[in-house]
Amino acid sequence: MSRVQYDVIISGASFTGLTMALALDHALGDDLAVLLVDRAAPAPVADSRATALSAGSKRLLTTLGLWAAVAPDAQPVKQIEISDSRLDSGIRPVYVSYDNTVGPATAGADAEPATWIVPNAALSSVLRDAVAGRPSLRLRTGDAATGLLAGFYGATVILADGTTYEAPLVIAADGRRSALREAAQIKVVASRYAQTGIVTTVAHERPHNSVAVQHFLPAGPFAILPLTGNRSCITWTEEKDEAKRILELDAAAFLAEVDLRFGGKLGPLSIIGPRQSWPLEVHLARNFVAPRFAIIGDAAHGVHPIAGQGLNLGLRDVAALVEVIADAARVGLDIGNLETLKRYERWRRFDSVVSAAAFDGLNRLFSNDWPVLRATRDAGLGIIDRFPAIKQMFVTEAAGLSGELPRLLRGDSV
Ligand SMILES: Cc1cc2nc3c(=O)[nH]c(=O)nc-3n(C[C@H](O)[C@H](O)[C@H](O)COP(=O)(O)OP(=O)(O)OC[C@H]3O[C@@H](n4cnc5c(N)ncnc54)[C@H](O)[C@@H]3O)c2cc1C
Repeated sequence: MSRVQYDVIISGASFTGLTMALALDHALGDDLAVLLVDRAAPAPVADSRATALSAGSKRLLTTLGLWAAVAPDAQPVKQIEISDSRLDSGIRPVYVSYDNTVGPATAGADAEPATWIVPNAALSSVLRDAVAGRPSLRLRTGDAATGLLAGFYGATVILADGTTYEAPLVIAADGRRSALREAAQIKVVASRYAQTGIVTTVAHERPHNSVAVQHFLPAGPFAILPLTGNRSCITWTEEKDEAKRILELDAAAFLAEVDLRFGGKLGPLSIIGPRQSWPLEVHLARNFVAPRFAIIGDAAHGVHPIAGQGLNLGLRDVAALVEVIADAARVGLDIGNLETLKRYERWRRFDSVVSAAAFDGLNRLFSNDWPVLRATRDAGLGIIDRFPAIKQMFVTEAAGLSGELPRLLRGDSV
């Protein structure tokens, strides 16, 4: 087999892998030859999820010149409502309601939404089309990367069919079961939730007015994420066995289960998308880098979807790693050098640990029907609702605009 040389090889061509390739192209242009490999065959993405993208992620996509293509499918979230009730409660009282925009209070209608809801299939096709149009990026699909050999000057990636590729730097963006992470012998701390994430899309009679709703129910959060038009994506956490029962129901019975949780504010509902499910887990890699190797996105960390932050964290990884690589390349340093890569790890790992712990804690606090805990947390929500400064702090955090921001998340070029 012939050996082909690239500057960077990325394993995994989904959200973070594709964005990483585009960010490298944006920063270093044709100077860098990048190979992307993905085990999945090239096919339209059958992913009914919609992602809550933060303002920071939107700035990154804007700077990379991608947002204009995403925008027609992106729905801003201007208001968030939170309720906490039992499944059989006839009403879902709103405990906290807040303005989900960032920037000066005087900005009014021009204020920047902290969150945008984008269908995964739309985001994915924008990223793939953009990669296809860049001469420095090559995408090879239908073959898994299975092996990694790191040497002094470069690393070799071995594909399932035996083909090998070489580059000074290999990036794994191959998701939660990352094969290259394992090949690099990076250990992972992981824990499965006894919960399943159910996703579907509904149409409703009345407009959602850009309001996202989070109903905390005893089995887990039921999120109503507004889409363009009178449509919303449901991201619904359910106890595992109950989820299995619900997923097997016929169409009318499934709609009745959605109706029971949705609350009647938006009028009659109809299901307009497939129902899909994901096992939920939290995981965190012990290291984000090894010699000539870095991991990003779900290959590095996975969090509970309760706060809609998993991909936003992954895009922060992209922004930090591309900045580290570009800074090194521009002064003639070796981009795969471990000392260079450690700067990325120091930047991103702590944030990932804190986020994984925070979302795990939130899930434990709210996916619970113990009356004492319920009364305490509802009192807490009531207090939060009366303090705009606390709510604004949460919004800024969710917008991905706090902490030491990489340039792309500030809306600046790398
Ligand atoms: C129900 C649910 C709702 C969510 N909602 C949100 C949200 O609102 N906001 C948010 O920010 N995040 C959300 N997330 C998290 C988000 O979906 C993930 O963080 C994101 O998909 C991770 O992207 P990724 O590119 O890192 O990995 P993945 O999307 O998992 O992609 C991995 C890619 O690697 C490929 N691959 C795997 N193995 C190999 C191999 N050996 N060789 C080559 N290729 C390989 C796969 O084919 C795939 O294309 C949600 C998650 C779930 C489960």
